[in-house]
Amino acid sequence: MATGNRHKVEEIRAVLADLPVAVRSLAEFPGAPEVVEDGRTYRENALKKAWSAAKFTGKPALADDTGLEVDALGGQPGLYAARFAGEGCTFQDNIRKLLRLLEGVPPQRRGARFVCVLALVDPSGREQVVEGDLYGRITEAPAGGGGFGYDPVFYVPDLGMTLAELTPEEKNRISHRGRALAKVREILRALNAER
Ligand code: IMP
Repeated sequence: MATGNRHKVEEIRAVLADLPVAVRSLAEFPGAPEVVEDGRTYRENALKKAWSAAKFTGKPALADDTGLEVDALGGQPGLYAARFAGEGCTFQDNIRKLLRLLEGVPPQRRGARFVCVLALVDPSGREQVVEGDLYGRITEAPAGGGGFGYDPVFYVPDLGMTLAELTPEEKNRISHRGRALAKVREILRALNAER
């Protein structure tokens, strides 16, 4: 997995747990190069991260690039969701900035979408990119202690809860990443059948 984000690693590991693959985090490969996420699209960033890891480890790599698109902010922070409140900011800083920008915006105008793009590449040259998304809305205050990132302020109307109020299994069943991972599962299953 071409990421050092332990939350993403946990979610991805859980979905792929029953497949005959060993999921290893980039944290297990000391010296892996830092990737500058300067792509113009989620796809470019995900492919850049995946190729960097595949070249460094000599193994197939799966990278995740996720964005949060908020309607009332014209789709921001989008690609820049990680550094929304500035370089080195925390999840809390980002949430605080988001809630401040949406102050006074009524619930019906607080729509948002999570997008998760996963790139799976093989050092032999093969690459595949899949996507999953989830529509919801931004709450006026954080709720829930699970998940990570923007989960405490991302409300899923169908469930009447934020992503942070779900169990890890529930989040994976409906989330942007869970939906993209369902496609990765199929690709891995097909690759395994080929062998
Ligand atoms: P990146 O894909 O690591 O660049 O993530 C972009 C931003 O979205 C970061 O601030 C993450 O913390 C946040 N993020 C990524 N995935 C999720 C998620 O599943 N829920 C909530 N926030 C997320």
